[in-house]
Amino acid sequence: MKYIKGNIENGLTPITSSWMTHLFQNGPLLKDVLHEYGSPANIHHLDSFSENVTVFKEAIEHYEIAYQIYYARKANKCVSLVKRAFELGIGVDTASFRELEQCVQLGGTAKNVVLTSAIKTPNQIKLAIQHEIPIILDNLDEWNLTYKIASELQKKAKVGLRMSGFTVENEKLYSRFGFDIDMLVEDTISILEEEKYKDFIAIEGLHFHLDGYSTTQRGKALSDCLSLAEKLVLRNIQIKFIDIGGGITMNYLESKEEWEAFTKNLQHAVLHHLPTGTFSNNGLGYKNINGALEGKLNTYPFYNECNGIDFLRNVLDFKDAAGHSNAYKLKKQNIQFRLEPGRSLLNQVGITVAKVVHRKKDAKGQWLVGLDMNMSQMMSSSADFLLDPFVLYNENPSEEEVAVYFTGAYCLERDVLLKRKITLPQLPQIDDIVVFVNTAGYMMHFFETEAHLFELSSNLNFTQTEGNPSLENFTKDVEI
Ligand SMILES: *Cc1c(COP(=O)(O)O)cnc(C)c1O
Repeated sequence: MKYIKGNIENGLTPITSSWMTHLFQNGPLLKDVLHEYGSPANIHHLDSFSENVTVFKEAIEHYEIAYQIYYARKANKCVSLVKRAFELGIGVDTASFRELEQCVQLGGTAKNVVLTSAIKTPNQIKLAIQHEIPIILDNLDEWNLTYKIASELQKKAKVGLRMSGFTVENEKLYSRFGFDIDMLVEDTISILEEEKYKDFIAIEGLHFHLDGYSTTQRGKALSDCLSLAEKLVLRNIQIKFIDIGGGITMNYLESKEEWEAFTKNLQHAVLHHLPTGTFSNNGLGYKNINGALEGKLNTYPFYNECNGIDFLRNVLDFKDAAGHSNAYKLKKQNIQFRLEPGRSLLNQVGITVAKVVHRKKDAKGQWLVGLDMNMSQMMSSSADFLLDPFVLYNENPSEEEVAVYFTGAYCLERDVLLKRKITLPQLPQIDDIVVFVNTAGYMMHFFETEAHLFELSSNLNFTQTEGNPSLENFTKDVEI
């Protein structure tokens, strides 16, 4: 079998790892995998996860600050990744009862698990308190519930306060989450200081998780939390950790030029009512309103020059008005630095592999290639997943170039897996294979549903060994 990246010209070329290319070169094996485990199959490479963790660790250790990394497990459902996180000595950020329960079953403890769910039910809080796992509280009702459960259990709950409402460059950031930082100091904290709480709740930390991907905002938020921690010391509240949440950017694409050309061409097409190269001329967020270009690209920023540890360094190097960096203040105030990266730890960790089921030409003369998968199995909140897919041809492609859309199994008109048209050297045949790369972070699991009673996709781990890989190199995700 021969593999080809779609859109050889005008593409958005994804960064790929050697383990991925190794599999592309073993197309018949991927066919066996689909035969054995069904389509689509999510293939994970745990050693890439380990590498990401090591890179983060080394970058933070350079600052000589106390720290803990919590892998945000909501980004991917696989249990193997949680196991691997614990093996690597990092923690796990949980956001539901089952996420928390599984972590405890896998040996998670007060030291390496945190509970940050948006809605905290009594069973979550109870389990966390029983295991002394820190709970990140969002509001006073959660505080009161925690107090109630802790007093019933006659145990002290360890909590962090989720903060929001930071003022960055003279603008207050709105969030539906957390305690407002200004109100906390003026008002809320006096409530939390009531005597009756003392035996049952200990405020140990501050936390935030910001929308978007600004390092300035995160730098300022961390700086403000450090100042807040100083004020709290005066009230006998010793902050032990500050957690900056996730949202550390990741870079998916090889070329800045391709990314810029893509956005420029899309804008131009929307502005001039030209074909956008997307299904139904979807502007992916751009609109033409009375002849003017409005809106913005409504996708993840797939190309990021500042990503991963550079992003993190910008946050730690951020300086306050007095010229002191966050890293300096963390050390000076003896506060542990915590972070909860999800997506960025899953960089290069997974691919989604699916089988071609049918091809058809629609009434507009467009080629639609139906895959044995559905839109929920590769979906994020992005308007499109802007990475060129790979096609593995059973027979060597001739040179009859064709542009196609990949469509999925839901009964919805909008189940078009990629909005972007993909140009290929030849129309794929039935049983050819299509591979979407770098899908481990959110894409494969976050929105996956069982509509139509479709089975959930299978989750496999691929372990590279010497020589040619076989089906034995694939194992199913750990059942728990
Ligand atoms: C979603 C989330 C994360 C992880 O975010 P990424 O963008 O995947 O790094 C971390 N912490 C909290 C509280 C979250 O809601």
